[in-house]
Amino acid sequence: MSDTKSYSPINPPQRYLFGPGPTQVDSRVYQAMTKPIVGHLDPYFFQVLGDVRQTLRTVFGTKNEFTLAISGTGSAGMETAVGNFVEPGAKIGIFANGFFCDRITEMCKRHEAEVVRLEKPWGEVFSDAEASEFIRREKPGVVIYVQAETSTGAFQDGTAICAAAHDAGAIVIADCVTSLGAMPVKIDATGIDVAYSCSQKGLSCPPGLSPFTVSPRAMDRLKSRKAPIREWYLDLRLLQDYYDGAHKYHHTAPISMFYALHQALANIMEEGVEQRWERHYAAHKEFVRRIEALGLPMHVAEEHRIWNLNTPRIPQGVNDTAVRKTLLEQDGIEILGGFGQLAGKVFRIGVMGPLATTDNLDFFFDRFSRALAIAGYKVPAGVAH
Ligand SMILES: *Cc1c(COP(=O)(O)O)cnc(C)c1O
Repeated sequence: MSDTKSYSPINPPQRYLFGPGPTQVDSRVYQAMTKPIVGHLDPYFFQVLGDVRQTLRTVFGTKNEFTLAISGTGSAGMETAVGNFVEPGAKIGIFANGFFCDRITEMCKRHEAEVVRLEKPWGEVFSDAEASEFIRREKPGVVIYVQAETSTGAFQDGTAICAAAHDAGAIVIADCVTSLGAMPVKIDATGIDVAYSCSQKGLSCPPGLSPFTVSPRAMDRLKSRKAPIREWYLDLRLLQDYYDGAHKYHHTAPISMFYALHQALANIMEEGVEQRWERHYAAHKEFVRRIEALGLPMHVAEEHRIWNLNTPRIPQGVNDTAVRKTLLEQDGIEILGGFGQLAGKVFRIGVMGPLATTDNLDFFFDRFSRALAIAGYKVPAGVAH
């Protein structure tokens, strides 16, 4: 080894992850990842897994027996939902109001489904009447919506969607990637049949696992499915043989990631799930008060906002790339901008996990208003942060 320098330990810069994800990770979660691994068939691993599955039920708000974590990021969860519940030729109804609805649409098309979409501009949500009218008219076998659209900041309440879908004999898939762990997702109370999430957003864990839950109604669908499931790796019937009952080898579970998720969930339980939601709500309210005082209006109507991911509009004449560059280079703060329909129009600022506190908001707004000023924005006089 001639060049020893390139073999020195990696030394990442200090970052404050105020973006949509990955989000800030607690040091106890990093410590859990450094523990020695056991085998993927070791009884200790199944103990860890059992705890993870039980706590996931609590954060999901479900009694679903079939609740676990898929090995992969949120998109693997999305692909698991589509691969197992969308059959070739089936009619799928999608509520489309953002980037991730489009990703699901693409996956459904690859599975040769007949996709029908109800569309809305990015940042808006569907009313109860619009939802039920669409489902009654189209009669899809599977209905899909995104609960927390990370590309827009909008939260879709799914109660009317689920009620209309069940009346029509359909099951409902909901994307809960950003909401899980930061705000109530209420799987059972809403009537959601299949939901997936990720470890690196509302749960404050590194990326690598996708929490997943399936209702008894959807399990019946799965059992009666005739067409083979095309994704061998994400086949829930095979995964059930590994995770439940016989623990038959399927793939090697990412042990260290399960340690991390175990600790992240333990942190949540220690704080109290409802207390954690309330902390995120309080931080969101405080964020909105301060951002409006700065003169930046929120893009999404007040009653439809995601608590942990804010989308304030970028002021006229301000270059969002320049603001983000200043924040990252001078302060180590990451935020993201909008894309697609919202490119150049909004910032995407996550206030979640360990960062959802008044002290961290003080720090953020101090640096953010300075970065806006550097980018030529006239910060209103007398705005006290
Ligand atoms: C992040 C995200 C995904 C994709 O998750 P990855 O972990 O990036 O694969 C899917 N849906 C929504 C709403 C997301 O925010």
